[in-house]
Amino acid sequence: MTTASAKRVFVKSYGCQMNVYDAERMGDILEREGYSGTDNIEEADLVVLNTCHIREKAAEKVYSELGRIREMKRNRKRQGLETRIVVAGCVAQAEGAEILSRAPAVDLVVGPQNYQNLPSLLQQSLKKPVVETEFPTEDKFGVLPAPTPQTIRARGVSSFVTVQEGCDKFCTFCVVPYTRGSEYSRTVQEITAEIERLTASGVREITLLGQNVNAYHGLDEAGEPVTLSHLLDHVAAMPGIARLRYTTSHPLDMDETLARAHRDNPALMPYLHLPVQSGSDRILDLMNRRHTVDDFRSAIARVKHYRPDIAFSSDFIVGFPGETDADFAATMQLVEEVGFSSAYTFKYSPRPGTPAADMADQVPEAVKDARLQSLQALVTKQQRAFQESMVGRTLDILVERPGRKPGQVSGKSPHLLAVAFEGSTDLIGQIVSVDIVESVTNSLVGQLSNRERAVA
Ligand code: SF4
Repeated sequence: MTTASAKRVFVKSYGCQMNVYDAERMGDILEREGYSGTDNIEEADLVVLNTCHIREKAAEKVYSELGRIREMKRNRKRQGLETRIVVAGCVAQAEGAEILSRAPAVDLVVGPQNYQNLPSLLQQSLKKPVVETEFPTEDKFGVLPAPTPQTIRARGVSSFVTVQEGCDKFCTFCVVPYTRGSEYSRTVQEITAEIERLTASGVREITLLGQNVNAYHGLDEAGEPVTLSHLLDHVAAMPGIARLRYTTSHPLDMDETLARAHRDNPALMPYLHLPVQSGSDRILDLMNRRHTVDDFRSAIARVKHYRPDIAFSSDFIVGFPGETDADFAATMQLVEEVGFSSAYTFKYSPRPGTPAADMADQVPEAVKDARLQSLQALVTKQQRAFQESMVGRTLDILVERPGRKPGQVSGKSPHLLAVAFEGSTDLIGQIVSVDIVESVTNSLVGQLSNRERAVA
């Protein structure tokens, strides 16, 4: 993606892994249009902001960023240079033409279901600004260009692959069903072809993505719908696959077969992200999560039964409308009980168009802040304890990239912990045994185990 004469594109992605995946796909499309990627926004002929709408702060961040880009566009104009601005992703889908009125410097607003048409939309926007947020009938995945082997190699040995998109669950706080549409599962054939290209260019670890990935029900070659555990078995058997992960799951769809896959599928890593949001049944009901805290406990127990060494992470919202001290205490008690290797914790943020935004008993910000602080303190304590429990153990690390220090490389453990150790970059793409000697902030430090040193 880096030829000197090419037009340059700067792509910035906010939010979830699926936005990272979409940003890479947009990069592939634009590469075919003669753009080369740049990390320096000042030199970009095209700026693409791939936005997240999950929290108010995320959306407002986009507008302040657009203010800065507008100034940059003006400065470049004075130097005789054109700059095109595209707003993509979930804020684009949710706010559409509102973005053009709040940020007139924007040329194109395109939702997550339409970025496959970037070339023609960019052409159209030469005449006047364009907004494209319809939900098309065509399956975008079928028309997305494949990344080149060089591009895949440049992106590393670990890759996301979207297998399911959209959501039919309609939790009362969430915008995803409105911005990503109803649940759609890609075919096994399409996913297989994409993964074959990735492994052929050195990818060793695949994370299957979906807003509700464990509700996956794509068609197999015979045209029969299959589940996520079937897809995981299929992918695990593909050449070049060393490690498999999947995210994001819903407790309701954590069935026995998928739980058993954590014992029987050799490539599936012992790490599961399973959002629960609250430890109070009353709040889960107001959130329309359609499961109880006990359902969540059963899902955790089911997986742990088959894979006792599995690590769990989760999502929590504090300050949901109507949340009392007792509800919050129930959340803290659930966290204490399960013990998480990590967790994403958020203050409830009313999203326009979602039922919860109009609910009574909105919780004061100060109360939300206090609850978030207590929850984060507990989660951090658990995360540190989990990490420290690795010191003195030997872990298999998938080496991903050069480390921060000279002579160092870094990679991930099966529990998705970052590990840095001395070693040659020739190890990138390999799984090596590393003795863990220290736990530092958010990562581990190790050294190649004797056995590896003998081999290296
Ligand atoms: S299941 Fe997840 S993506 Fe779907 S509505 Fe609920 S929070 Fe949003």
